[in-house]
Amino acid sequence: MPDPTESASRRLLVRLRETLAEPAAGQERLDRITALIAEQMGTHVCSIYLFRDADTLELCATEGLKPESVHQTRLRVGEGLVGRVAKTARPINTGNAPQERGFRYMPETGEEIFSAFLGVPIQRLGERLGVLVVQSKEARQYSDDEVYALEVVAMVLAEMTELGAFVGEGEALAALHQRPVMFQGTVGQEGVAVGHVWLHEPRVVIANPIADDFETEMRRLHEAVDRLRVTVDEMLNAAPSGDKDQLQVLEAYRMFANSRGWKRRMEEDIARGLSAEAAVEKEQSAARARMQTVPDPYLRERLHDLDDLSNRLLRILTGQGEHTGAERPADPILIARNIGPGELLDYGRSLRGVVLEEGSVGSHAAVVARALAIPLIVNAQRITTEALNGDPILVDGEQGIVHLRPEETVATAFNDKIAMQAKAQQRYATIRKEPALTLCGQRIALHMNAGLMADLPSLESSGAEGVGLFRTELQFLVRSKVPKRSEVAALYARVMDAAEDKRVVFRTLDIGSDKVLSYMKPQDEPNPALGWRAIRVGLDRPGVLRMQLQALIRAANGRPLSVMFPFVAQLEEFRIARDHLMCEIDREGRLGRPLPEKVEIGAMLETPSMAFSPRQFYEEADFISIGGNDLKQFFFAADRENERVRRRYDTLNVSFLSFLEQIVKRCEDTGTPLSFCGEDAGRPVEALCFAAIGLRSLSMRPASIGPVKHMLRRSNLAEARAVIDTARASGAQSVRPAIMDWLRRRD
Ligand code: PEP
Ligand code: MG
Repeated sequence: MPDPTESASRRLLVRLRETLAEPAAGQERLDRITALIAEQMGTHVCSIYLFRDADTLELCATEGLKPESVHQTRLRVGEGLVGRVAKTARPINTGNAPQERGFRYMPETGEEIFSAFLGVPIQRLGERLGVLVVQSKEARQYSDDEVYALEVVAMVLAEMTELGAFVGEGEALAALHQRPVMFQGTVGQEGVAVGHVWLHEPRVVIANPIADDFETEMRRLHEAVDRLRVTVDEMLNAAPSGDKDQLQVLEAYRMFANSRGWKRRMEEDIARGLSAEAAVEKEQSAARARMQTVPDPYLRERLHDLDDLSNRLLRILTGQGEHTGAERPADPILIARNIGPGELLDYGRSLRGVVLEEGSVGSHAAVVARALAIPLIVNAQRITTEALNGDPILVDGEQGIVHLRPEETVATAFNDKIAMQAKAQQRYATIRKEPALTLCGQRIALHMNAGLMADLPSLESSGAEGVGLFRTELQFLVRSKVPKRSEVAALYARVMDAAEDKRVVFRTLDIGSDKVLSYMKPQDEPNPALGWRAIRVGLDRPGVLRMQLQALIRAANGRPLSVMFPFVAQLEEFRIARDHLMCEIDREGRLGRPLPEKVEIGAMLETPSMAFSPRQFYEEADFISIGGNDLKQFFFAADRENERVRRRYDTLNVSFLSFLEQIVKRCEDTGTPLSFCGEDAGRPVEALCFAAIGLRSLSMRPASIGPVKHMLRRSNLAEARAVIDTARASGAQSVRPAIMDWLRRRD
């Protein structure tokens, strides 16, 4: 370990702190720092380059190069040695710079040919901010201690930039967290929202990166690591013994928490002049930089674990955490790296929107956000690094765009959009109690999709005629273990009570594929969407299915009951599932419990096979509901979760529309009630086309009922049908252009 009194880095840091304590504005402060570093390290040049935009670095301060080149000299990332440091986020230390690969001479700086070059990235937790460089005339190699010293100074610089200490001249000097930033993510749940940032896990702010007293910092680190170890042991003891995955993660945590290498590196950082928290962050930063380059997913996961552990250690050291004392804004938009469904439910509808750095459209959080009708964007890269509590933020859940600290013009345009939507909402409210009656006199039944008790008030406010799809898996997804039959029955009873005399179609558990229960043994399937899911699980392990069916019968308590089985792929599966229900009814009857006054047993049509099933399927099912989300992915062989292919095939593609029409015809032949409950039912143009090809019942998100009803009430289905038929006959790929054109002319 370096001698804490002797190391170059420590001496440099002590002087740096003195310099920083002197009052100075942004530029002057940078100038003083470069002068100090050059003097302390005995180099001819010291320069600070900061990112001006994602691809360009700007020389922002220098000691030794021409002062006129400051804010004039720019280079692209990857260009020259400085650009290479920025690109790779790794130091370059060479005694013979002109011989180095990629060396570029910049005459405008008055740069003589300096032989020695040492450049280190200025970064904070993997966020690249710039490059710090020293150069010397003589052909010397900087020592390890000097490299280290410069890295530590770069880290302190990053902290200060972060804290807004460098606000000053030049755009590149603007504090990072003051610039407007736009993120392009992926829509998890549609809708727009205006509000202020509320961080799920606020970042720890390190007020003093430079140690006052070496021994105190060492002691603080040791105490914090000890506490961390105890916490991890407690977590391990509390973990359910059957949960292998969780245990594995916690074992990895324990291994890191006890890792001598990790602790030793942090001790060395402190010996070189850093405070305990800065030492933790330095190692965390290094791990994050590695994380970005490690291709092996297992190793990346482990680095993630280490990252999480570092966060915990930082919280212990700083006393900061989820409760930083910041006040939650009245219009919170939650920002998180990722979030579990239970945590999101805890926030509930108090949130205006949610933006996740990771996550996916099919994640549980997305399922919950959908149920809560909160706009959700996933995949907004780097948002947790950029956003600070209280920042103004706009979420455009139609385009998948997030504007953080938006410019005034953007905010104005956005507010106009919201005002227009509010106006439309008022219009929808006026027809809430009206039927969805088309101009040609056809009545279309509009139902809503639900999955939580919290959805039920929408039944009244949206004007839905009933619940066309109640996704029962949500109750299972947000738990850490299988809920009890009594709990399940209580929820169903409350749902039926809230719906009063309106029909609620309960879909039995649809798990597997993207909806994985944390307490279910993970299946290592090459293709989970085509794997062991939904009714397949129910039929192979009927225990939970039967429990659910009993709960439904009990909840109905004599009232009518509608049950639907998901993901039926052949007639036999429907028959066996139906027999389970009949058995349970029989059993409940024998136990003397009240039986439902009427039972309807339906199936979801989500696999193309059922469109071609024997006629008996259509005769035996009391009703059929098309699960368009799944049906479409299998029809086009395009994964609904895969952003690359998800939007490639239009729902109004003539092949798909003709396929749907064929299902409509088969249902008409057998007199089987048919509905469509995939997301597309809630899109006005799609809904119109579905009605035009003969669908008479649609189930959708409550927020879509108004727009769909508005569209249907202004439309003549025979005319729409004629447009569709002409487009189909013309060999068009999709009927959308023709329908849109017709709507434009019509309106
Ligand atoms: C569907 O597949 O269209 C559907 C409604 O089911 P889920 O989205 O829950 O898979
Ligand atoms: Mg489905």
